[in-house]
Amino acid sequence: MKTFEPYLFRKQFPLLQNICSPRHDKDDQHHAIVYFDNAATTQKPLTVIDSQQDFYCQYNANVHRASHQLSSKATLAFENARTLVQGFIGARSIKEVIWTKGATESINIVVQSLARNTLMPGDEIVLCTSEHHANIVPWQIVAEQTGAVIKILPLTKQGYIDSTKLDNVITDKTKFVACAHISNVLGRINPIEKVIAKAKAVGAITLIDGAQAVAHLSIDVQALDCDFYVFSAHKMYGPTGIGVLYGKEELLDTMPPYQGGGEMIKTVSFTQGTRFNSLPFKFEAGTPNIAGVIAFGESINFLAPLLADISKSYQEYEQQLLDYCYHALAKIAQVKFIVEGKPDIGVIAFTLTGHHNHDVATSLDTYGIAVRSGHHCAMPLMAHLNIDGCLRVSLAAYNTKVEIDYLIECLNKFLLNAC
Ligand code: PLP
Repeated sequence: MKTFEPYLFRKQFPLLQNICSPRHDKDDQHHAIVYFDNAATTQKPLTVIDSQQDFYCQYNANVHRASHQLSSKATLAFENARTLVQGFIGARSIKEVIWTKGATESINIVVQSLARNTLMPGDEIVLCTSEHHANIVPWQIVAEQTGAVIKILPLTKQGYIDSTKLDNVITDKTKFVACAHISNVLGRINPIEKVIAKAKAVGAITLIDGAQAVAHLSIDVQALDCDFYVFSAHKMYGPTGIGVLYGKEELLDTMPPYQGGGEMIKTVSFTQGTRFNSLPFKFEAGTPNIAGVIAFGESINFLAPLLADISKSYQEYEQQLLDYCYHALAKIAQVKFIVEGKPDIGVIAFTLTGHHNHDVATSLDTYGIAVRSGHHCAMPLMAHLNIDGCLRVSLAAYNTKVEIDYLIECLNKFLLNAC
């Protein structure tokens, strides 16, 4: 593949071609929207958008059920997307790829189908300080239901899971270890290989929340040897409302269905009860998000070659942007990064001394710049850092240095006006 061309890449995203009207002061130029909230959700390329439309316009039908041609075509595209995901994460079989609404639902399935049925009072669940609420609250619910106890892995000053503390926290009592591959606030790639190895050594089951990793890193679930890996399509240029639960087949086989309904059954009888379908369908009750799955497949077609490219030019460009943005922000005296050092991916969290993060974000919005402010669904992390919230600039490969210059200019204008 040739050198990564950010402007050509950017052209593929219709929303990013929209022009914002300046709402702030008369000197502002009209400019394209500056979208720096990619950790919340990425924009979608035209191929992904078109594939949804194409499904509804050309072959909308339910999957797996009918013998007519439309249904066959829909089923083929639907199952082709599953095969694409299997290849994308290196799963052994399509049986290990379960469609869900997203990372949140994937975690809830593991928690309610497996953890709830196996945890005993006093058993321990290990999470990390920087988890997203999606990987905290389901575990709190199951701890309440079963009498299990939650233990927390501490962070280093740089915001990584502290691998020197694994032996203190992960013990013979640990039954589940669940942590993010990359925190959605800190942008650090956690040492999950070490966490998984330690969890395995005590016989605990591992769940890795890959929501922030999949758009930036090549994932190989077999090499990681985690039991579960979860993610959402919408953070990797795909549609909302669709995601994946990857699980080892031998574990998924032991788990009861999460929901009952059509699709997940082999036979249903009032006298003899129900026999469940085989994997992966056992966990896919009801009509799925067919258009979403097909568009998700298209987003894999879009992203996978970029991540697989041996020249690494896509990832190098992301690193250049991160470097540029981090160092430009560091030059502003009032910018205080919430942990020490530069993140590993383009997720940069900071506060602006003397100013509330919502005020800063609202001001940037008037210049057409979208950043995130608040607790970022990581309230325990905010409490740990002793802040009530922060700003987050999260980058994608369609962002440019020009946009970062504009961000810095607008932050400086905000500081000037706020004096
Ligand atoms: N985990 C992490 C690290 C996230 O960043 C997010 C979303 O921001 C989630 C889980 C939840 O993802 P979703 O809302 O798509 O289910």
